[in-house]
Amino acid sequence: MFDDSKCNECENVDCLTKCQWIEFDGIDDARSEMTKMINGEESRVLSECVTCFACHEYCPYGSNPFDLITTLQEKHDSLEVNEAMRKRMIAMYKPHDEFKPWDGIEPDKSTLNKCAFIKTNADDMKGEFFEDLQSIGGRDFFCNLLYHHIARDSVIRERVPIILENLEKQGVKEMICFHDECYGLYNSYIPRNNFEIPQGLKPIHVFEYVYNYLKENESKIQKLNIKAAYQRNCSTRFNTEIDEYVDKICELIGVERVDREFDRENALCCGGPLPMLGKKKLMRETQNKNIKDMLDHNAEVCFYNCPMCMETMGSKVERKGLKNYLLTNLCRKALGENIE
Ligand code: SF4
Ligand code: SF4
Repeated sequence: MFDDSKCNECENVDCLTKCQWIEFDGIDDARSEMTKMINGEESRVLSECVTCFACHEYCPYGSNPFDLITTLQEKHDSLEVNEAMRKRMIAMYKPHDEFKPWDGIEPDKSTLNKCAFIKTNADDMKGEFFEDLQSIGGRDFFCNLLYHHIARDSVIRERVPIILENLEKQGVKEMICFHDECYGLYNSYIPRNNFEIPQGLKPIHVFEYVYNYLKENESKIQKLNIKAAYQRNCSTRFNTEIDEYVDKICELIGVERVDREFDRENALCCGGPLPMLGKKKLMRETQNKNIKDMLDHNAEVCFYNCPMCMETMGSKVERKGLKNYLLTNLCRKALGENIE
């Protein structure tokens, strides 16, 4: 939920002045656009925004400016999203009207939440980290944060209580989130919007889980000794502390995360939402700039947190001579699994 209490004393209006997608004529221009939005009015920010979530991270006061932007984008219908496509996307992950708990799930066992990737990325959820885990996934557990990219926060708000009720009925406790965005729902969206997590439910990011597994099995690790570029994803803006796990995992498995321009706070969106917003040309330009930066820093590999980033950028990255991996798959490779 947006909190404007610090905006008056905010010197640099970092949420907007640091935005990589919108030009401002100095701090006063950014402040004037921010003031319009605080007053609930139209601002060019709303239509020029590509929904990269970065302003959430840029704000030094934790004021959640993207929550304001997404609410106003819906109110003013600011994003050029095709209405038929929007309807299809919203219908695709609608939870079932009546939820039937999955058979065989034991509350005291750790559970992998496969989110929407249950079929598309089934092979990425195999291997020794995951083999002892029971799993859930699909539309009854889908995080729904995707709808921020089409200006439908209202759909997320409507569905969050249903997803939480489903988890409560399912009785899941320790839940490892395969998808960063899922973790973002439980770790950020839910607390900052005053929803309540069912008692006993403990969401864990897959990187924390994998790191702990690697530490316990350190003697089995064969260092990969590669230089790799990290494609940091949009939802990481809500879970910045997870970046520490990326560094710790890289160190353990012998991956040098190249110190390039478009990583960490300055990461560039993969471009996935841009075609939906009628900005295909911008997507191509952004990806070219991003991949050039990987090559300029001698990366041999591009590694990802989010399967959707890899889906969006993977073929172009490969054409430029880099291999693509989810970080979890690089970890499996370091444990001796045959991952190509
Ligand atoms: S949202 Fe944060 S960065 Fe933006 S003006 Fe308010 S306090 Fe400053
Ligand atoms: S979400 Fe991204 S593009 Fe939109 S205003 Fe925030 S930083 Fe800029």
